[in-house]
Amino acid sequence: MGEFSGKNVFVTGGASGIGHATALKFIEQGATVLITDLNEKAGTEIANNHENLFFAPHDVADEKSWQQAIAKMKSICGSMDILVNCAGVSFSDPLEDMTLERWRQQQAVNVDGTFLGVKYAIREMKERKGAIVNIASIASDVGIFAAVGYCATKGAVKSLTKAAALYCAQYKYDIRVNAIQPGYIETPMVTDVLHINKDAERLAQKLKKMHPLGHFGEPDDIAHAILFAASDRAKFMTGTSIPVDGGYLAQ
Ligand code: NAP
Repeated sequence: MGEFSGKNVFVTGGASGIGHATALKFIEQGATVLITDLNEKAGTEIANNHENLFFAPHDVADEKSWQQAIAKMKSICGSMDILVNCAGVSFSDPLEDMTLERWRQQQAVNVDGTFLGVKYAIREMKERKGAIVNIASIASDVGIFAAVGYCATKGAVKSLTKAAALYCAQYKYDIRVNAIQPGYIETPMVTDVLHINKDAERLAQKLKKMHPLGHFGEPDDIAHAILFAASDRAKFMTGTSIPVDGGYLAQ
């Protein structure tokens, strides 16, 4: 028996990084988890290696793909209790060179994807009870000159979280909506960018120093906060965003 025994959890972006770590923590705590992701190879492998963990291919930017993934969730689990909107992309195109197409691509995954998840999760959960956890970022609150489009998407995720929480409260749905704001976390999203940088080690040290604790976070650091926000221990918490950032936003 774990804290999430009997709960059915849907985690987008579950084939990598924070989503993967989160899915594993939920199954450790007794949940049944559907991870979804664009990366079918990694997702299928993870599902093959764990009990009570299933995979569906999914593009969060595509509404039809959401309908198909939710249908798969219902065929496996019957219902959804928790949604973690974790899939995301981070582009570092310089502002002056970023094409509208690239801007929209990033918005489509990070903002449209979160909106669609919230919309369909509310439809699935409103007759019962549920929790939604969105993944915002420190970039929801501070600007990063090298990630202007990304900052805009994560600001939107934070605002969407507040408004969706109020929407659920207004209609007396027993659904809480919160977000987590990670600092830099050691996942492929960060390590891939470092690897293509000519002076990766220096950049890594510089980024680490921007966190008062002096290092990057681990995916599990974020997973723990996600599980808390999704749990009944957080039953009086809705519409908020919790930084888990080594002190980054406290400065
Ligand atoms: P990650 O390791 O790159 O994982 C993201 C996953 O999302 C990947 O498997 C990726 O698949 C998938 N994905 C991308 N586009 C998708 C789409 N359209 N539909 C479905 N899945 C898609 O990154 P992460 O660091 O775990 O990031 C998870 C979340 O945390 C993101 O929302 C990110 O913005 C946020 N975050 C991360 C950090 C950090 O420092 N790592 C900091 C703040 C916030 P592919 O690999 O095939 O693209």
